[in-house]
Amino acid sequence: MPASTHKTLKIDGSTGEGGGQIIRTALSLSMLTGTPIEITNIRAGRAKPGLMRQHLMCVQASQQISNAVVTGAHLGSMVFTFTPSTVQAGDYTFDIGSAGSTSLVLQTLLPALLFANTDANQKSTITITGGTHNPLAPTTDFLQHAFVPLLAKLGMQVDIECLQAGFAPIGGGVIKTTIAPFMRRASAPRLDLTERGKLNRIELVASVLNLEYDICKRELASAKAALIEAGIDEALTTTRGNKLCGIGEGNTCYAIITHQLGDQNEAKTTAKTSTNTNTHQEVFSLLGEKRSSAENIGKRLAGHIRRYLYDTDALLDEYLTDQLLLPLALSGGGTFSARVISEHSKTQAWLIEQFLPVAITFDAIEDKQILVKITC
Ligand code: AMP
Repeated sequence: MPASTHKTLKIDGSTGEGGGQIIRTALSLSMLTGTPIEITNIRAGRAKPGLMRQHLMCVQASQQISNAVVTGAHLGSMVFTFTPSTVQAGDYTFDIGSAGSTSLVLQTLLPALLFANTDANQKSTITITGGTHNPLAPTTDFLQHAFVPLLAKLGMQVDIECLQAGFAPIGGGVIKTTIAPFMRRASAPRLDLTERGKLNRIELVASVLNLEYDICKRELASAKAALIEAGIDEALTTTRGNKLCGIGEGNTCYAIITHQLGDQNEAKTTAKTSTNTNTHQEVFSLLGEKRSSAENIGKRLAGHIRRYLYDTDALLDEYLTDQLLLPLALSGGGTFSARVISEHSKTQAWLIEQFLPVAITFDAIEDKQILVKITC
């Protein structure tokens, strides 16, 4: 197919949250719709403005999968243009060359590859080297236990393997993702994730990479004690320690919280192929820090869990909310309840509406609960 004949869409990269997310989402949407883009004022308000290595990797990887023509993309650049051609399913390998987030590169490419070569039913694989556990980004654990199960509810089949863990500053983590082409069935029910049913379980997981296993034990004990003190039923909580493989050192501690969906949602929630239609999984994750004791990390994790369980009846927390908007818009829309609408979510909604004929609304239904609706 020839390069796009669409008119170039100009995007001011300093709009709203004004960070890397605008670049990544604009690339995804440009590839999906065949719309050439020009992004200006890239990360204009940041201490180090312009494209950083991880953003540049997103541009280059997008260029490769969509055979795009790119101008002006280099480290530090504040303007670039991107004109995609056809997205090609296939087996791709990318190396960020730093501890930059593999998750964020993956999330840039995923939407386009879900819709690539659907006629031939050709799967894609993407192997990315870099950081698997980064601050200010989803960890691989978050993708596997929260993001992927949500995609499955939409009928999107994605599988992520963590082959090696990678933490800052060394990185060297490797994730391999398999993506089945997505075909939306006209008869598929729209996602309805609004009603929280009973709490099924809380799995506390702590992992170390080339550090003492005792750190895991201390984090888990401290998180569990804080949950019991907060009145959470001990019988619902399990703990698991892990030794990760990879180079460098690191520690992460996270919780997978599983709720039954409310009766009303259970009946309506989608894809028959999905194994998790009756539950919702939320994940909170923290990274170990030199300045913070294992006990303190455990307590902080319990704090996130408490806030989610006690302060809101919403199903999705802050990060899943902004990350679900694009897949949901692409799968025909739907409704979900969110604890909070961040600047990331508002900016994401604005950008999606620039490319797709959808309306995204946020309506407060009660304190700490917002109804998010995407209508196509
Ligand atoms: P940006 O700040 O523009 O690079 O975007 C960061 C992305 O990472 C957003 O999609 C956030 O939802 C996501 N994110 C940041 N912190 C976390 C976290 N702790 N867990 C899961 N996702 C996160």
